[in-house]
Amino acid sequence: MKKVMQKNDMVRLQIEDIGVGGEGIGKIDGYTLFVKDTVIGDVIEAKVIKAKKSYGYAKLINILTPSEYRVKPRCPYARQCGGCQIQEMSYEKQLAFKEAKVRGNLTRIGEVPEELLDRVMDPIIGMEQPFEYRNKAQFPIRADREGNPAAGFYAGRTHSMIPNTDCALGVPVNKQILEEILSFMREYRIPAYDEEKHAGLIRHVLIRYGFKTKEIMVCLVINGNCLPHSKALAERLTEIRGMESITVNINKEKTNVIMGPQIRPIWGQTYITDYIGDIKYQISPLSFYQVNPVQTEKLYGLALDYAGLTGQETVWDMYCGIGTISLFLAQKAKQVYGVEIVPQAIEDARNNAKLNGISNAEFYAGKAEEVLPGYYREYEKKHPGERVNADVIVVDPPRKGCDEILLRTMADMRPDRIVYVSCDSATLARDVKFLRKNGYELERARAVDQFPQTVSVETVCLLSNRKLKPDTYIK
Ligand code: SAH
Repeated sequence: MKKVMQKNDMVRLQIEDIGVGGEGIGKIDGYTLFVKDTVIGDVIEAKVIKAKKSYGYAKLINILTPSEYRVKPRCPYARQCGGCQIQEMSYEKQLAFKEAKVRGNLTRIGEVPEELLDRVMDPIIGMEQPFEYRNKAQFPIRADREGNPAAGFYAGRTHSMIPNTDCALGVPVNKQILEEILSFMREYRIPAYDEEKHAGLIRHVLIRYGFKTKEIMVCLVINGNCLPHSKALAERLTEIRGMESITVNINKEKTNVIMGPQIRPIWGQTYITDYIGDIKYQISPLSFYQVNPVQTEKLYGLALDYAGLTGQETVWDMYCGIGTISLFLAQKAKQVYGVEIVPQAIEDARNNAKLNGISNAEFYAGKAEEVLPGYYREYEKKHPGERVNADVIVVDPPRKGCDEILLRTMADMRPDRIVYVSCDSATLARDVKFLRKNGYELERARAVDQFPQTVSVETVCLLSNRKLKPDTYIK
């Protein structure tokens, strides 16, 4: 019989895997325990703190034999901070873990045969420098214990702040900017925001950095209409090379949402410019933009490669956001149609197309699972029996994956290729299973590490219409 643990039991176990929240996973006689602050390979002693029927949670008491993959974390706050989860595991092992996770989901949930995966899966694309990769940082500003303004981060899943201006995932200039702001606040007695009292002025500092252009944007989120002595602040910040944009964002709500709707300029432009590949973007404090530009370029390069474009194709880019993938593809396609649910993002996408002189990309605001089926029905009515205009369909859905109505429509439209970009390999696997049952075969798959030191992993899959190459697939 399976052993059932009880609260306060002391146990010894080996960590074998990492869970969705970064916690280590080990088993004792089939009973699963989740233990924070451990890495794959650790042999540990732990105390059960919560016991359910088939699984429980335990607290690390002692590392008996440290894993060979254990490394000293670069950031002294790696354990407390909610930002990184697996900084104590070597980067090589992080990559192996992520690849195994994608593979595991594709076989277990997606029911993709092992021998097919052996053939189609390429090695994960990691980073050469898996730190300092984020082009965007948002630091809360609060009073520290002595009442002085401090910048930092929230301890995992809480709102108590730990002062730290030196996040290992952000660019080094963040520290310099934050320290200028904090010294300005001290000198001019500008109060930090107090969440409980909903008082004080400066709530957050948003910093964006263009990796290609080296342009810097600073936006102070304030609980008020204006920032006193803003000229003095601008004088200090503009000493920093690359400063292009200093703004305030007004957020007077009692809310966890960081940004309010309104931006006011203090100095310079209200946006910075950056590039992904050859495509130029104007990024304002409120716009969505991929946070790891180095890996994004690789991710989209892979999507482009899988799309196999020759210049003749009509491509649909579902869940297109600000049109990043669409514009990347438009350079090699005849026509691209992008679909996205957020109207503001569609506006940005259209502006980005204009900014780059791209005229073969059109964007529609709406739900992917409504816009594409609607287009298909109309097309069928007007051109009965003809194949619909869609050679390649790209999807890049949020974590929950694609709506089944969308998958059904894609299968009915019969594009030559479907390129699936995914941030959650479990829902990817579910959707791959659907597509494999409905006329498509998995032809290539590759994980990309967009967020080193965290558990998340992106995956790109190419699925091809079985009719095109009927003999090459495993039945
Ligand atoms: N491809 C884009 C963004 C992908 S993120 C890029 O690379 O930048 C997923 C996007 O899907 C988000 O922009 C989100 O707003 C959008 N979205 C969420 N649900 C949607 C739906 N049902 N239909 C269309 N878009 C949706």
